[in-house]
Amino acid sequence: MEISCVVCGRELEPALSLDDEDLLADPAGGVLARIDGNHGTNAGLRHDAFSRSFLVVYLCDPCLVRKADEGRVQHVTRRRVAATTEITPFRPGG
Ligand SMILES: [Zn+2]
Repeated sequence: MEISCVVCGRELEPALSLDDEDLLADPAGGVLARIDGNHGTNAGLRHDAFSRSFLVVYLCDPCLVRKADEGRVQHVTRRRVAATTEITPFRPGG
């Protein structure tokens, strides 16, 4: 499968040689971006939190860096909020 940058069209080579053509290739000198979809898109991609399907695009490193420098790339870190426990005296009828 040929992989190329979604922005500039530069052809990218797989970082590792894959024997299985069905596996998604990590590109050398670029990244693989997974698109799960979201509410609001009109591009025909259905949003389903439980879906096992998604889209894939490739981005070469120079385009990624250029877009980041333009402020068009977000870095997301998800943090779990720890459960807290509150203990108060039981007051019947109160
Ligand atoms: Zn590019």
